Amino acid sequence: MKKVSYEVKTRLSGTLARTGVIHTPHGDIQTPAFIVVGTKASVKSLTPEQVSSSGAQAVLANGYHLYLQPGHELIEKSGGLGKFMHWQGPTFTDSGGFQVLSLGSGFKKTLSMEIEGVSPDDVIAPRKERQAWVDNDGVTFKSYLDGSMHRFTPEQSIQIQHGIGADICFAFDELTSLMDSYTYQAESMRVRTQPWAERSLHEMQRLRKLHPERPYQAVFGVLQGANYEDLRRETAQWMADREFDGYGIGGAIEKERLGEIVQWCNEILPEDRPKHMLGISEPDDMFAAVEHGVDTFDCVSPTRVGRNGAFYTFEGRKNIRGNMYKEDFTPLLEGCQCYTCQNYTKAYIQHLFRAKELLANTLMSIHNECFIVGLVDQLRASIEDGTFYAFRDDWLARYYQ
Ligand SMILES: [Zn+2]
Repeated sequence: MKKVSYEVKTRLSGTLARTGVIHTPHGDIQTPAFIVVGTKASVKSLTPEQVSSSGAQAVLANGYHLYLQPGHELIEKSGGLGKFMHWQGPTFTDSGGFQVLSLGSGFKKTLSMEIEGVSPDDVIAPRKERQAWVDNDGVTFKSYLDGSMHRFTPEQSIQIQHGIGADICFAFDELTSLMDSYTYQAESMRVRTQPWAERSLHEMQRLRKLHPERPYQAVFGVLQGANYEDLRRETAQWMADREFDGYGIGGAIEKERLGEIVQWCNEILPEDRPKHMLGISEPDDMFAAVEHGVDTFDCVSPTRVGRNGAFYTFEGRKNIRGNMYKEDFTPLLEGCQCYTCQNYTKAYIQHLFRAKELLANTLMSIHNECFIVGLVDQLRASIEDGTFYAFRDDWLARYYQ
């Protein structure tokens, strides 16, 4: 069974930033790489051919959603996630911890990553509204589809992800919110997230032995610890001492502190393993994560904002619904090589939005995915040729002017 492995290619001197390759049974990922989100085994409104022609290298689906619908057993019968959704490249699955826990204390409220101006009452849902309950062995939750009760333990999360068949799986973890106290964060990390990570790893090792004919599936340990340096370093050391194939840096992170939090983790984590940052939303976060040694990250923004009419340009995000585009017969972004910009005008795409034509979502998503993949390609090239900081400063100044 060929393992999932990582090879460093270049390092940016004096930093943790690097380029490299993740080898998986379904192909290589040149890093840093943006991993496209296909939560329910579909990148919303795009065919896999459209996803791959945007330059995307891998897709991340969600164990929780696929467990509820259509069920991991069905995906397993079909030959695994890639085959089921007709995606040829590498795949990731998230454990479902985030989705399950966001039904808990954060249910119907923001699991806010920005605490300014937010009180605990805005974030912590009353007991009766909760849809998930955590104990030291796992999480019990109500299905968002039909209200039926379910339970995830680390073993079950891995059995689900094993059935789905992604190349890279994440250990089951407890997601905490920035509103939780230090004491809660520390207890959650030591009593649940870390033991759950170890149980996730052991369960995958057991399943690998049971099914030696199947391609290797990696387990990435997930680092929690919120904004606390001592907790982040402690969990990084704990994870580094165990046989994870890679790591997921997750949890409650204040945007302004993303870079330093990632740095605390990556200074300790082994260099020869890939590091994934779970759920990034904005380009400045991508620069900060990559500068501090993140190799891959996932982001729903390109398709999500696209469906709301937003498109990326070098001068920031714009909205196609704006009146100034009514008779604008130029592409979304002059010089963009994507299919949308090569063939359609802003006036036409605005018309599609106003007429509620489904093609609007597809055309916007193609452009936005291409834009972000292209940005990460340039990021990678700038690490290789040593121009990372100049590229970052120019790019961000123009985008956030
Ligand atoms: Zn374009």
